[in-house]
Amino acid sequence: MSPASPSAEILSFEDARHCVETHAARMRMPASETVELLQAAGRVLAEAVMADRDFPPFRRATRDGYALRAADLDPLPAVLKVIGEIKAGNSFALTLAAGQAVAIMTGAPAPTGSDAVVMVEYTSLRGDTVEIIQAVKAGDNIVPVGSEAKRGARLVSEGARIDHAVIAAAASVGMTRLRVYRRPRVAVLATGDEVVDVAKTPGPSQIRNSNSYSIAAQVEAVGGEAVVLPVAPDEPRELCKLIKRGLEADLLLLSGGVSAGKYDLVEQVLEEISAEFLIRGAWIQPGKPVVFGRTATPSGEKYFFGLPGNPVSTMVTFDLFARPMIQALGGQVLRKLVFLSGRLKSAIKTKTGLKRFLPAIISGEFEGAEVELAGWQGSGDIATMTRANCYIVVPPDRERIEVGEWVSVMQR
Ligand code: AMP
Ligand code: MG
Repeated sequence: MSPASPSAEILSFEDARHCVETHAARMRMPASETVELLQAAGRVLAEAVMADRDFPPFRRATRDGYALRAADLDPLPAVLKVIGEIKAGNSFALTLAAGQAVAIMTGAPAPTGSDAVVMVEYTSLRGDTVEIIQAVKAGDNIVPVGSEAKRGARLVSEGARIDHAVIAAAASVGMTRLRVYRRPRVAVLATGDEVVDVAKTPGPSQIRNSNSYSIAAQVEAVGGEAVVLPVAPDEPRELCKLIKRGLEADLLLLSGGVSAGKYDLVEQVLEEISAEFLIRGAWIQPGKPVVFGRTATPSGEKYFFGLPGNPVSTMVTFDLFARPMIQALGGQVLRKLVFLSGRLKSAIKTKTGLKRFLPAIISGEFEGAEVELAGWQGSGDIATMTRANCYIVVPPDRERIEVGEWVSVMQR
């Protein structure tokens, strides 16, 4: 179990992740539909958002104050004649001449002839003149026409997940409806003779099915539509039937049955239907037995993941591997996985050989982020996972990490 004696089939974390990304990048674009602007939140853009005019469309004042010619403010204090007022939404017909100023509000168009706005805080109005005590440079507090985007420019590309900023961009160009990609259907198939439905009372040696629910919630959170199948027993024929049903969806996510036990039948059954395995394990913890592959089906080639059944392993391997595939199936442009950093609050001791994604809690406040292990009792510890809000990523060669060291953190 160390990288020094790698099994040909078990990949490093990075190789496994790249393998999924490579296959995800080759996905065909899904079909699309048109929805109301607000219904589009959380979906994926199937069309670009283009600027329908210059942004800003006029020389916009960014401060309340006086529009003027910067050259008039030498020497200071300067006294200028106030020839009018422009509030946001209004325009001003006159051209400003030397020695003149116009009272202006944030968001209003700067009048022709002005080249700067001086903030009201540096002025005092006396009748129809204003005294100014602070210099400005030409261009100060005025946003030039088209400086944010020129008419016809692409504000947002297709393939973007639609968040509030994308909604704002679409609203600003007058799109009341958006073309979005169809959500990928993701089949969720939990396996295990000991696993019973949540509505049933488990026997003494049974456990309730939590993985189907956690996976379904994760699928929905990344923009997929979960199709939860009945729990498959550790019996090849029934398992095969359910796998075939699952392969009717755009992607199949299995949980359990991928370890080395006698009744871990997922790989065997997938082999029987001539599946091709692209990953058969990664040097990670939790989640080492994860598998990934594809197979031909009557409705085309389909990908599948076999996520290890331990609930924490299931959640982590979903985030690490299944997520980018679902994003790609939903038409999303893929981003590389990147970790953030946090300062370690209490020392970590691990064995070398595996890249670890340890449930952790990020705390502190403002610039003082600190991170520590959530104190899990192993890969089955669901309770700890509810308290964890991130993972500490420990490289395979680290045995001990001291308090105060910067560690990599994967957000959850
Ligand atoms: P397996 O990967 O099938 O060897 O399962 C590993 C561990 O995860 C066992 O302790 C299982 O009981 C547990 N497990 C498997 N499937 C589920 C499930 N759907 N919900 C909750 N726990 C599960
Ligand atoms: Mg099992």
